[in-house]
Amino acid sequence: MPIFEFRCLKCGNIFEKLFLNNKEEVKIACPTCQSDSFERVISKTNYIMGTGKAGKEPKITTKSCSQGNSCATFELPGPDG
Ligand SMILES: [Zn+2]
Repeated sequence: MPIFEFRCLKCGNIFEKLFLNNKEEVKIACPTCQSDSFERVISKTNYIMGTGKAGKEPKITTKSCSQGNSCATFELPGPDG
């Protein structure tokens, strides 16, 4: 199961997110401040998992949710790319 690290751009907290499967779409927010502004931290785990290949990068999508709140979703590329 891939684990990705993110760094909150608001408070600098680094947190990990575990993905149970490749098709899962997961909302990500900083566990400390609930900010959805973050960047992915490239760690050795990604190389071990082999997820750092070009064209296989996970996609982070920020979109508007209800009441003007923004949500970020994280999509992992499937086996078919
Ligand atoms: Zn934060």
